[in-house]
Amino acid sequence: MRVQVAIIGAGPSGLLLGALLHRAGIDAVILERHSPDYVLGRIRAGVLEKVTVDLLEQAGVAARLHAEGLVHHGIELSFGGTRHRIDFQGLTGKHVTVYGQTEVTRDLMQAREAAGLQTLYEAEQVAPHGFDGERPTVSYVRDGTTHTIACDFIAGCDGYHGVCRASLPASAVQTFERVYPFGWMGVLSQTPPVSDELIYSNHERGFALCSMRSMTRSRYYVQCPIEDKVEDWSDERFWDELRLRLDPAAAEALVTGPSIEKGIAPLRSFVAEPMRFGRLFLAGDAAHIVPPTGAKGLNLASADVGYLAAALAEHYGERSDAGLDAYSQRCLRRIWRAERFSWWFTGLMHKFPETGAFGRKMQSAELDYLVNSRAASTALAENYVGLPLES
Ligand SMILES: Cc1cc2nc3c(=O)[nH]c(=O)nc-3n(C[C@H](O)[C@H](O)[C@H](O)COP(=O)(O)OP(=O)(O)OC[C@H]3O[C@@H](n4cnc5c(N)ncnc54)[C@H](O)[C@@H]3O)c2cc1C
Repeated sequence: MRVQVAIIGAGPSGLLLGALLHRAGIDAVILERHSPDYVLGRIRAGVLEKVTVDLLEQAGVAARLHAEGLVHHGIELSFGGTRHRIDFQGLTGKHVTVYGQTEVTRDLMQAREAAGLQTLYEAEQVAPHGFDGERPTVSYVRDGTTHTIACDFIAGCDGYHGVCRASLPASAVQTFERVYPFGWMGVLSQTPPVSDELIYSNHERGFALCSMRSMTRSRYYVQCPIEDKVEDWSDERFWDELRLRLDPAAAEALVTGPSIEKGIAPLRSFVAEPMRFGRLFLAGDAAHIVPPTGAKGLNLASADVGYLAAALAEHYGERSDAGLDAYSQRCLRRIWRAERFSWWFTGLMHKFPETGAFGRKMQSAELDYLVNSRAASTALAENYVGLPLES
């Protein structure tokens, strides 16, 4: 097989890149090690920035998102027993859209199938080769047979544990990392959300987040020790703990029900630099991870592939490599700003045992300043709704 672009990974980055390349008339195949059902079963992000919505529109897959997505004009910060609203619309003129990553993935998969585009699911031992030369290839095993795909470029959209970054010589890549000493215990339930907007709670028992996927499906999280196991958290224990971390009105209004999905996510900040190695380009979680506090992971992944698709269109259409040459630097500038925001918001909202009583006082003072200063509220709002894409 020969294609212009071989994409490794059918998560949101790989699928969105495939859709954008198709629109640009560029021929691509996607290789994915899991089955479509497995990919769709992963419950992850839920808040989309305008940049992401615009790219999904550009890819022609935003109809259901516009019909079913929930437009949110702000968030609520809960601390000291009260909630304080951060008004995105008033402060920045912008909003975010709540629409689950699972639904984004489903829309992209269906559009890909309808257009007859090729995705090789359950491809084993996928490996990129020769990307430092002119003729890269990707090999994979399916049904016991090894196959090779010749291509012009390889897009490494294979997530944090993927093969692309792992195939690079250690000397070619520099990594920066912070692992947090706690995780998020998350529950998805078929219950109405406790509030119309997301509630981020800073509480002396630890952080909590009230999020949602629709007006009938809620997603809740509580900060938990990283050593905890899902089995330690019965539904009853989860709901009791969440209620304790909310303000009295929210605790009273909370509707509970059986969990549909439960999991513990570790929190990590991570960046690999650069993001281009000859004819191999990393995008999304393959190159960077943020703690989910700022709702940036999926949005950063989308922005990366937006830049990459435009650069590849420029390469094939205008015979210019300017976009490809600028790719890594352009992405990394935006990524580091999102890393900073996610790190700051994580630090402000979570309980860090090592910082003690002084650390708690600092958080309280900063939260008090944040909700009472238009400048500080605006800084939070403009980062949360997403920084614009640079041209
Ligand atoms: C538990 C969890 C909760 C999260 N919650 C949030 C949130 O609330 N908000 C937010 O913004 N972000 C969140 N994120 C982050 C967000 O989901 C990711 O940033 C997003 O999925 C990145 O998309 P991606 O396509 O780059 O990577 P992924 O979604 O990881 O997709 C990579 C794909 O590559 C495939 N793959 C890997 N290795 C190979 C291989 N060797 N060969 C072939 N295929 C391979 C994988 O199977 C996968 O399908 C969360 C992430 C996790 C793990």
